[in-house]
Amino acid sequence: MPRFRQAVWDEPLLKEMSRQGRVGMLAPSDPKVMAKTKDPALFVPANMRRDSLDLPELSELQVLRHFNRLSQMNYSVELGMYPLGSCTMKYNPKVSELIASSDTVKQAHPLQPPETVQGLLSILYELERYLSEITGMSRFSLSTAAGAQGELAGVLMVRKYLREHGGSKKDEIIVPDSAHGTNPASAAMAGFRVVKVPSDSTGQVRASAVKELCSEKTAGMMFTVPNTLGLFESEVSEVCDAVHSVGGLMYYDGANMNALLGKARPGDMGFDVVHLNLHKTFATPHGGGGPGAGPVGVTKKLEEYLPVPVIALKRGAYTLDYGLDHTIGQLKGFVGNSAVLLRAYVYIRLLGASGLNNVSSLAVLAANYLWKSLDPEAFPVTHGKGLRRKHEAVVSVKSELPGAAMTMAKAILDYGMHSPTVYFPLIVHEALMIEPTESEPVEVLDDYARALNEIYRSMKAGSLGEVPKNTSVGKVDEVKASHPMTLRVHW
Ligand SMILES: *Cc1c(COP(=O)(O)O)cnc(C)c1O
Repeated sequence: MPRFRQAVWDEPLLKEMSRQGRVGMLAPSDPKVMAKTKDPALFVPANMRRDSLDLPELSELQVLRHFNRLSQMNYSVELGMYPLGSCTMKYNPKVSELIASSDTVKQAHPLQPPETVQGLLSILYELERYLSEITGMSRFSLSTAAGAQGELAGVLMVRKYLREHGGSKKDEIIVPDSAHGTNPASAAMAGFRVVKVPSDSTGQVRASAVKELCSEKTAGMMFTVPNTLGLFESEVSEVCDAVHSVGGLMYYDGANMNALLGKARPGDMGFDVVHLNLHKTFATPHGGGGPGAGPVGVTKKLEEYLPVPVIALKRGAYTLDYGLDHTIGQLKGFVGNSAVLLRAYVYIRLLGASGLNNVSSLAVLAANYLWKSLDPEAFPVTHGKGLRRKHEAVVSVKSELPGAAMTMAKAILDYGMHSPTVYFPLIVHEALMIEPTESEPVEVLDDYARALNEIYRSMKAGSLGEVPKNTSVGKVDEVKASHPMTLRVHW
């Protein structure tokens, strides 16, 4: 079983390794400069020099080893699989990193006049066309910086559109019980009352259940397809019809488009507003809070409500258009997180239409393969038995012990593997939500399933003990770790 070497937490600090007079800096060796002086400190302009500075004194190799050790304490998708369901942590092609970090991109200033950044704007303009084509929407605003912000933009557009079209009494948004927590939060932030619709035993929302909740108060519904159980909603078109028939609008949570790329389009299913998480579906490293991009797209009738700016092509030149007639306003500075947008553009261009279609096929194949490799007695599904999964599978850890899913999540760290998402969606008891993505070879999926099965057997036999054992930090008190947050170093 692969175990990657973990650095030990009690490595000395730089300060503790410091020895007076030890030097790690190599002075410039330009002979012309060296001829003038022997003291490298004199290369620093006089007004920036200090007499003393209390820094650790170390050799270059000590510093190098210290930071390399620290970097190895982090887990990343470049060390192993990162199968966080719903969060889609996929491999990011190095070429997109290279392009996104090129000087022309890095040095572009957000306040530069558009005529000096025509190249970048033309790329963003094209990206907008690609996203529209992929989703079946008419237009996108790229500025919103996360899925949650795209959602807020989306429901604010719904609110404004309805108010301007005689629907100001409409104040309810329907949200399924399997939805991501940001859905009800966004709807509530936009001033709507959230009405919950239950999933049935197949893990899907029935059109009849939605119809029962629809009234003249219905402003719309936020719907995730495939849903967070990884299941395609087979009555999606009927659900759209039901909400439309009372004058509501349909919102598509497209954070995870990984099963639908090139296969099906929310626009064709009947949705009016869509957000995408470029930092999930379209590569881009994420985690630790960002940065991300959650562009929001709409059908023709909502185009003028998009958040500004949008990228426009006027008389052969690309510009930032702030002048949409009914815009909900500006939610984020400038064009958005341009480096994230650029990576998504490269990802799309690298793969092309048929490549994107293949991504979906492989993501679905990998999710179903991994799911089928798990012991069905240990990890039963609670919803939609017999149905094939899409990009992810949610299983329940069968155990009398409380916190069994958390124990699994901690124990797999000892194998040098990242945990799946746990305890989401909320409707599944002791949930493990596993999303391998399209990039993992079959041997990695085999190893992962074997590890989960093995841990389960140990847990059942009572021989697991305290986990994790091999990590640099043991089991942390998660409440205490974040509240109150105190970062402190003693020496
Ligand atoms: C991740 C996710 C979101 C929220 O996206 P953020 O970028 O984290 O704000 C919304 N819905 C679903 C289904 C998600 O997986």
